[in-house]
Amino acid sequence: MKDILSMLPEEIAEDFSALGLPRFRAKQVTQWLAKGVGSFEEMQNLPKDLRIRLAGEYSLSRLTILRKQTSSEDGTIKYLWGLADGNAVETVVMRYHYGNTVCVSTQVGCRQGCAFCASTIGGLVRQMEPSEMLNEVLCSQNDSGEEISHVVLMGTGEPLDNFDNVMRFLALLNHPEVFNLGMRHISLSTCGIIERFDDLAARDLQLTLAVSLHAPDDETRTRLMPANRGRGVEALMEACKKYYETTGRRVSFEYAMIDGVNDTARHALLLSKRAREVGAHVNLIPLNHVEESPFKPSTQGHLKAFVRTLEENGVNVTIRRRLGGDIDASCGQLRRKYEKR
Ligand code: SAH
Repeated sequence: MKDILSMLPEEIAEDFSALGLPRFRAKQVTQWLAKGVGSFEEMQNLPKDLRIRLAGEYSLSRLTILRKQTSSEDGTIKYLWGLADGNAVETVVMRYHYGNTVCVSTQVGCRQGCAFCASTIGGLVRQMEPSEMLNEVLCSQNDSGEEISHVVLMGTGEPLDNFDNVMRFLALLNHPEVFNLGMRHISLSTCGIIERFDDLAARDLQLTLAVSLHAPDDETRTRLMPANRGRGVEALMEACKKYYETTGRRVSFEYAMIDGVNDTARHALLLSKRAREVGAHVNLIPLNHVEESPFKPSTQGHLKAFVRTLEENGVNVTIRRRLGGDIDASCGQLRRKYEKR
């Protein structure tokens, strides 16, 4: 059965016309899908026999809430959603002064193996479908009652390791008849799958590309991120530069500050050089706690000194605010299921 929520409105219209249905039926169905309904049964302005017929042609489901937690510190909400096949993923809704942001997962699990990240423990289970990612946004908005103005692909999974499904999800998010979200309100974060940068640039999306750099030299980066092996920081910088030249969009570097590992003066200097070469903004992330990880966050003193070095070297730097810390909803803390506490 075809997964109708993964289809673009034009594709639904084409399908429906092949099924001999009048044009307005496709419009009606698209409107229901954009509202986030989980069954054809709920599409009240369709005749009963048509609802039954469509349910025989297409699959459609909503996510179920397995667990919902709200941060008492900042109102951040974390959902653990059940998917139709019994798997589960987490999604986070954050409130910022400029609007509400949903952080979506793009894979069930992750195969990148970053040493400081909880999402990769247990490896990759499977790719997520476009409909499932769209449902993360629709169901989060519907359940929370908060209008969503920004989407970040920064949950569990590596978006560029699920390229086609992620591109289709973005097309749906951006589509005026589906979610109508401007590309400039979307950020995609990658651990640096550089083989995909040209494909991404060729789509000429106006989204923000965030690169999880975490170290400016191969020795440190390979230790932290297996994805650096066989690619390397130099090649990553070349890919970022080319991406910027092709799209006119500056990339940003994410850099988790890890005590004694990547936070020395030497790292700060080399990072400054890298960032300047690529025209990148640097977003420092105080390392978040992951029970299985041996790493500790940098001290305040080291963090301050690091920021100063970057600033003195003309780099645009910010520190990411930690949201949802009390419910393990911060960067690197999302998992595909809720485990022990
Ligand atoms: N796979 C993509 C998307 C994940 S985005 C990527 O690697 O970019 C999540 C961000 O949080 C990434 O920058 C990731 O490296 C970072 N992160 C992972 N674990 C973290 C931790 N314990 N503390 C702070 N940031 C972490």
